Order: sequence, then structure tokens, then C-alpha cells
Amino acid sequence: MPNKPVALVTGANQGIGLQIAKDLVGHGFTVLVGARNLANGETAAKSIGADAHAIQLDVTDSKSIAAAADRIAKDYGKLDVLMNNAGISHVGKAGGRMEDVARKSRLSVAPLDEIRAIYDVNVFGVIAVTQAMIPLLRKSSAPRIVNVSSGVGSLARTLGPGGEHLREIFGAYSISKAALNSITVGFAIELEKEGIKVNGACPGFTKTALNNFQGTKTVEEGAREPVRLALLGPDGPTATYSNDEGPLPW
Ligand code: NAP
Repeated sequence: MPNKPVALVTGANQGIGLQIAKDLVGHGFTVLVGARNLANGETAAKSIGADAHAIQLDVTDSKSIAAAADRIAKDYGKLDVLMNNAGISHVGKAGGRMEDVARKSRLSVAPLDEIRAIYDVNVFGVIAVTQAMIPLLRKSSAPRIVNVSSGVGSLARTLGPGGEHLREIFGAYSISKAALNSITVGFAIELEKEGIKVNGACPGFTKTALNNFQGTKTVEEGAREPVRLALLGPDGPTATYSNDEGPLPW
């Protein structure tokens, strides 16, 4: 079995996840490029290089998750970094101005099915993948879990001074990221005694398909904080929530 540390990045076939995968390869990892569509994962892995390998992983599909865990166990025997990056901001057709998407996803009008579909990926998907990967993380000497959250999940910022924009776009996506933040805390509390560090990162408003490419940061900038948290040393924290400027209020 190879000696390199092994990372799994969910939703790594495009956007911030693809950049995180590239950066982790640059830091000496073997990276499993999670993709619900394997062909897209293969194209992405090829674009990164020999230390990136595609793995079929739909975070809403328990069979897909179990198969990915089996394959990682067989091929690597452990997992050092789990990067829960896969996420959606809305359901249905890609594109559409963010402001329009946000208006339709306000809690007073959003169809429950759509809220559920967002939770399936951003919330239950993270719990399911993490549960499946914990036995493999236990085999690592420096296990790290990073949940790619968002500043929109910060209730304190939303309600605080300067939160006007967050209040304006508050909807299904926001509540899914607030739930994800609770999940970060929950796993961090449970896994701390085993040395598994669990932290949440906000990439910042990044130009990707998720926001119809309206973001202002590059994917290189967006990947910075998740990657920093994946590389935490033994004295690094657990149960934190931050962006590349520092800690965020929950
Ligand atoms: P993106 O380019 O749309 O990438 C999202 C990735 O998640 C894609 O690879 C997508 O796969 C994957 N995905 C969606 N549903 C999935 C499922 N059921 N199973 C597995 N993978 C699935 O968006 P991004 O901006 O890079 O988003 C990455 C993370 O950053 C998300 O968690 C997002 O909430 C977070 N974030 C983004 C921003 C921003 O401004 N962009 C800000 C804060 C937080 P397909 O290619 O098959 O659709």
C-alpha cells in the first residue's frame, strides 16, 4: 500500500473541490476525486495528474457511499483527510441569477421538496459520508475532516451589524449551511478524544457554477481555507469555523 497520505474530496470534478484536490496533490497527497458522474471525475483527475484518482461518489446514495468506502479500504487501508465539499445552492436547472434563486428559496415560499433536496446533499450527505469514512479515518495517524460551509450559515453574522445582504438572501441554502455548522460541532465533540479534528471552512464568494459564476474570488482563493484546515498539525484546533481572514461567528 502507498505511503502517501490519502484525501477524499467530495464533489471534486469542478469548482472549489477540483482546486482543493489539485492543492492537496501539491501537498503530497494521493487524492480521490469524488464525482457523482464518474466520467466527469476521470476528466478532472486526469487534469490534475497521476496522484489524483476518480471515485464515483453520490453523497445522497448510500450504495455509492458504501462502495467508495470499500474501495478506499481495499486500495489504501485508511483515509487521512475527508473533505466534505459537495454542495448545491438550489435544485433544478443550473444557472439563473443568484438573486432570483435566493428569492425563490425564501422559507415562506420554497417548496419543501426543494429544501429536502438541498438538505440531502449539504446536510444528510455530509453525515452519511462521514459515518462511512470514520472507520478509515481511525486508521490514520493525523485524521482531519473539513466541512466546506459558507458564511451564509452564520446566524450571528446574519443577525448582526453588516448582515443586511445575508438577511436579504436568507433561505434554504442558508439553513442547510447552518445545519452543517451544527454537524461540524457534533462530530468534533464526538471524535476529539480519538484525535480526529473536524472544522468548517467558508471559501468566500467564489466564481463557480454554484452561484452562476457571479462570485468574486478565484477557485485558488476559495480553496485556501479548506486546504489549510486539511493540513492542520497535531496542535491544530477542532470545532472551528473560519474563512481565510480568520474565525467566523457561528
Ligand atoms: P460547484 O462548482 O457547483 O461544485 C459543486 C460540486 O458538488 C460539484 O462537483 C457537484 O457535482 C457536486 N455535487 C452536487 N451534488 C452532489 C451529490 N449528490 N453527490 C456528490 N457530489 C455532488 O460549486 P462550488 O462553489 O465549487 O461548491 C463547493 C462547496 O463550496 C459547496 O459546499 C458550496 O456550498 C461551498 N461554497 C461555495 C461558495 C461559492 O461562492 N462558490 C461560497 C461558500 C461556500 P456535479 O458537477 O455533478 O454537479
